[in-house]
Amino acid sequence: MKIIETTNISKRYIMGSEIIDALKSVTISVNKGEYVAFMGPSGSGKSTLMNIIGCLDSPTGGRYVLNNHDVSSMSENELAEIRNKEIGFVFQTFNLLPRQSALENVALPLIYAGYTKSQRTEKAMMTLKNVGLDNRAHHKPNELSGGQRQRVAIARALVNDPSILLADEPTGNLDTKTSYEIMELFDQLYSKGNTIVMVTHEEDIAKYSHRIIRLRDGLVESDEVNPTPTNPR
Ligand code: ADP
Ligand code: ADP
Repeated sequence: MKIIETTNISKRYIMGSEIIDALKSVTISVNKGEYVAFMGPSGSGKSTLMNIIGCLDSPTGGRYVLNNHDVSSMSENELAEIRNKEIGFVFQTFNLLPRQSALENVALPLIYAGYTKSQRTEKAMMTLKNVGLDNRAHHKPNELSGGQRQRVAIARALVNDPSILLADEPTGNLDTKTSYEIMELFDQLYSKGNTIVMVTHEEDIAKYSHRIIRLRDGLVESDEVNPTPTNPR
């Protein structure tokens, strides 16, 4: 089943007299349960494509269908609704609320989803357990290591059961050993059927994924199955 289907999507920025075609024509299809890495040099269009896939921005041309919703022509409000339902974001900088505990950070997206307080606590605790952090539930972000913070962020991304886990440089702020631990977690999530799309500069990190899509100058340069994904165990 297709989760992501872009057809000839383009993105043009106009800055004064300058025209920048950040994406020229990108056609990609990702099935449910795939684990894909996007790579490419700086300026190749990775962030632009991620923002479109994550429904943070709309393409200028072409069509984007996300889990059977045609999102290419949606309004800002419709996009926000689809985004909250379908996408779990993970960032390089974790983006946790500093005054809230790990549990409260993870429970946050459930407030908008309309769960009661006890349902939120139960669901957030279960998700923290799934990332191996239930023993740190009541710690604040500054009482956690970088790897633990990223686990909290991953739990927050997953708590609403999104159709895609969208990770932008998820190991960008982590040391090598911790990065591999996060890749081990991604591998477990993949084994459980989660769809994972990540952007990374690091070849070593991309090699954990099962498919590598390379962008260059706003175009797909290559899109290949990784026949030998790195085994983190
Ligand atoms: P990457 O993530 O691979 O570094 P980006 O998607 O950030 O690439 O950028 C692709 C191109 O689009 C670059 O030339 C960049 O300068 C341009 N660009 C990105 N965002 C904007 C914006 N908001 N306004 C104008 N130009 C932009
Ligand atoms: P809403 O419009 O529903 O308030 P938000 O702007 O809070 O939505 O963002 C919804 C989701 O998009 C959140 O998961 C948030 O972390 C993510 N997000 C918001 N801004 C950015 C950004 N600039 N880059 C990447 N993700 C973002």
